[in-house]
Amino acid sequence: MDSHPDLSGNPLLEPWTGPFGAPPFERLRPEHFRPAFDAALAQRRAEIASIAGNPEAPTFDNTIAALERSGEALDRVGAAFFSLVGADSNDALRQIEREIAPILARERDAILLDDALFARVEALHAGREPLPLAAEAARVLDRRHTAFVRAGAALAPDKKARLAAIGERLATLGAEFGQNVLADEKAFAMMLDGPDDLVGLPESFLAAAAGAAAERGAPGGYAVTLSRSSVEPFLQFSARRDLREKVFRAFVARGANGGAHDNGAIMSEVVRLRAERAALLGFDSFAHFRLADAMAKTPEAALGLLRRVWAPAREEASREAQALRAMIVAEGGNFELEAWDWRYYAEKRRKALYDVDESEIKPYLPLEAMIAAAFDVAHRLFGLSFVERRDIALYHADARAWTVLGRGGEPIALFIGDYFARSSKRSGAWMGALRDQRKLDGKVLPIVVNVTNFARAGAGEACLLSFEEARTLFHEFGHALHGMLSDVTYPLLAGTDVATDFVEFPSQLYEHWLERPETLRRFARHHRTGEPMPEALIERLRAARRFNQGFATVEYAASALVDMALHLQGDASAIDVAAFEARELAAIGMPAAIAPRHSAPHFQHVFAGEGYSAGYYSYLWSEILDADGFEAFEESGDVFDPALAARLERFVYSAGNTREPDAAYRAFRGRDPAPEALLRKRGLAGA
Ligand SMILES: [Zn+2]
Repeated sequence: MDSHPDLSGNPLLEPWTGPFGAPPFERLRPEHFRPAFDAALAQRRAEIASIAGNPEAPTFDNTIAALERSGEALDRVGAAFFSLVGADSNDALRQIEREIAPILARERDAILLDDALFARVEALHAGREPLPLAAEAARVLDRRHTAFVRAGAALAPDKKARLAAIGERLATLGAEFGQNVLADEKAFAMMLDGPDDLVGLPESFLAAAAGAAAERGAPGGYAVTLSRSSVEPFLQFSARRDLREKVFRAFVARGANGGAHDNGAIMSEVVRLRAERAALLGFDSFAHFRLADAMAKTPEAALGLLRRVWAPAREEASREAQALRAMIVAEGGNFELEAWDWRYYAEKRRKALYDVDESEIKPYLPLEAMIAAAFDVAHRLFGLSFVERRDIALYHADARAWTVLGRGGEPIALFIGDYFARSSKRSGAWMGALRDQRKLDGKVLPIVVNVTNFARAGAGEACLLSFEEARTLFHEFGHALHGMLSDVTYPLLAGTDVATDFVEFPSQLYEHWLERPETLRRFARHHRTGEPMPEALIERLRAARRFNQGFATVEYAASALVDMALHLQGDASAIDVAAFEARELAAIGMPAAIAPRHSAPHFQHVFAGEGYSAGYYSYLWSEILDADGFEAFEESGDVFDPALAARLERFVYSAGNTREPDAAYRAFRGRDPAPEALLRKRGLAGA
C-alpha cells in the first residue's frame, strides 16, 4: 500500500493568494514538490477519467472545454518546479527532475492513447460542421484532434502497441545519445602549457579556461574543453595552428570515437525507428510527418528554402575563403586554408575591416538602459508600460518583477527579469512562464520570465553588455511579449505554444528594433558620461553584422540539409548514417574548409530527443519571416508605424495558436513571406 503523505500545509497545493497570484516562492521547499506532483497527477487522472467516462453524449463543453480545464493543479506545480530547475536549481531539485520527467511523459502519452477519450474527440471532430463553433473553439478542437491522431490514437491496437514500443525505445536512445556526447566532451581537456600556448588568447577566454582547469583539478593552469563556448573562441583567437587543429579534430569527432560512447549504431536505429513510426501513421517519411504540423507543411517547402540560400551562401563563402587565403599568404604562410583556420583568419579580417572592439562598445550598453530600451520599444509598438514592484517575493534576490500595463493602464501581465549568471542557473538564455494567459473561466493574466546569464558587475559598477548580449535581451523579450500579449480563450492556444518554425518569429523580429538608430541614439549612452554612442560606431556595428555570413550560412545550412535528407528516407532499414552524411555533403558540394555546424554523431538537436529532428531548418525559416516582416516597417518609413504594429499585435503577438501560422503571417504582412529580405540581411543577395 502507498502511504498517504500529509499534504496539508504544502504551499504548492493551496490557492496562491499573494500579489498577482504568483507562486509563494519564499515558502517553497524541494520536499514539497514530489508529493504535490503526485497529488496533482492523481487529480488530473480523475478529471480525465470523468471526461472519458461521461455517460452523456460528447459536446464541445463536456469534452474539449473540459480537457482545457483539466490539469490546472499540475500546470501550477510544473511551472513553479521547472522555473526553479532552470534558474535556481540544486541537487534535491535535480533528483526530483530525474524521477518526475519520465512519469510526466508516460502520463501525457496515456491521455493521448485513451480510447474512450479519443472516441469523444473524434465524434466531435467528424461532426464539427454542424456544430456552431466560434473560430477559436473550432481551432482548439482541431488542435486537440490532431494531437491525438499524431500520437496514434486512431490506429488499430497492434499498431498502437508497436508505436508505444517505438516511442519508449526512442526515448532511451535519445538519452543515450546525449550522454555519449557528454562523455566524449568530458574525456577531453587540452591543457595550455606556458606562454607559447597562450598567444592571441584574450582575457575573457583565459578566465574561462582557468576556471575549466580548476574544475579538472589543475588550478593555476588553463584548459580548453570541448564545449562550444570554449572551442569557438579558441579557434577564433589562438595563434597556434597545431593546437587549433588538435581541438578542432576532437570537437568534430564527438560521438564518433568508437568504443562504448560511439553513436553510430544509435543514430542508425533512431532514423530507422522514426521512419517506421511515420509509416505506421500513414506518412511517406518522418520528415513528411514532422512537417505536416509545421508552418512549412511539406519537406519540399523547407528544402526549397535551404536550396534557395545554399548557392549564394556557397558563392559568398568562396569569396570569403579567397580573402582569408590572401591573408595567409601575406603573413608568409605556406599552407592550405583548413577548417581549423577559418575562424582565426576571419577574426583578423573582421578587426581589419570594421575595427569593432568589444571594449569600445560595452560602455554604451549598460543593462539598465537596455532593459529600458526593450520596454520603450514595447511602449511605442504596443502601448505597454512597465512598473517595477518590490512586494513580490521571487525565487532569488536577483530576480525582479514588473507589472505590465496595457494601453488603458490596465494590468495585462507580470514580467520577471532574472539577468545575472550564477552557479544554480542553467547556461544560456530563455523565456519561461509561471502562468499562461487564458480567458476560459474569467481572465487569467500571464506571468512571464526572462532568464539570461550576464556577468554581474563589481560592487557599485554598472553591468555592461556586449552587443550580442543586448541582442539576446531583446530576443528573449520578444518571446516574453508573445506570452504577455497573448489574448486567447483556451490555454492550449496561448502565447508561445505555436509551430517550431514559427515560434522564433516574434523573438527574432524584436531584435531588429535594437539595431535601429532610433533606439541606439536614445538608449545606448555611455554609462559614465551619458554621451550617445558615436554614429560612426553604430554604422560599423551594422556593417559588421553581414561579415562572414557566407561561412555562417554554409555551416548551418549543411547541417539542416543533412537532417532533412536523413529523415526523408522512407525505408531506412539498412541506413549507415555516417556514410549517408558523407555522401550527402559531397552531393551538395560542401566546401572543404568549412565543417557542418553539427555532424550527425553529435547532432543533439536531432538525435538527443525529438526537438529539431527534420526541423533544424526552422531557424532559417523563422529568419525569413523576421527579415521579411521587418522590411514591412522599413518600407512604411516608420519603424513604429502604428497600423503595422496593430496588425502585428493582433495577428502575431496576441494571437497564440488561434490560426495557422501562414495565415497569421499573411494577415500581418498582406502577402506570403519572400526569402529575398533574408538574403539581403545576410548580404547574400548576389551581385
Ligand atoms: Zn528564441
